[in-house]
Amino acid sequence: MEEYQLVPRIKPEELQKRLDDLAVRINRDYEGTSLIIIGVLKGAFIFLADMVRRLSIPVEVDFVRLASYGESSETSGKVKITKDIELSIKDRNVLIVEDIVDTGLTIAWYLDHLRQYHPESIKVCALIDKFERRQVEVPIDYAGIRLEKGFLVGYGLDFSEKHRNLPGIYEVQFQK
Ligand code: 5GP
Ligand code: MG
Ligand code: MG
Repeated sequence: MEEYQLVPRIKPEELQKRLDDLAVRINRDYEGTSLIIIGVLKGAFIFLADMVRRLSIPVEVDFVRLASYGESSETSGKVKITKDIELSIKDRNVLIVEDIVDTGLTIAWYLDHLRQYHPESIKVCALIDKFERRQVEVPIDYAGIRLEKGFLVGYGLDFSEKHRNLPGIYEVQFQK
């Protein structure tokens, strides 16, 4: 097992402030209507739970699990659904809630996939917009935090399934 350190990047209080700001915007943008929120498992589970409790518009919550496949460990852009949503999104306003957008390939594929079910609208909300490695242009309508790079864990995000339970965001740094 390779040794690594966790370097603090975003404190829990800072995360909560960013969520407050996002929720104000979402409540305002969807006023008078309702929303289906699709959380992308597993990484988004904490972000989604903290976000929906700030929303005053009517919301329904569902989850999808997406797996990227292909030879390399990097995102290949080939995505499959390993757990699908159960609600009908036809003619509904949909908000996809993601933990982090990196290359953008996963969310671009999923946006495209959802369009065949004819929702009224689809937007994307991501806790972290990590932009250095972006390969496709994806609209991130609501971004909590913009970071250039780094492999991040905590607040739902994992490294080999560990560290999802940390209340803040940390960067994984490998020992030289
Ligand atoms: P993308 O397709 O945009 O490259 O990223 C797909 C997924 O890779 C993200 O939704 C997330 O689950 C995972 N990912 C990308 N960057 C990070 C990171 O810094 N930390 C963790 N834990 N997962 C990441
Ligand atoms: Mg994710
Ligand atoms: Mg992961």
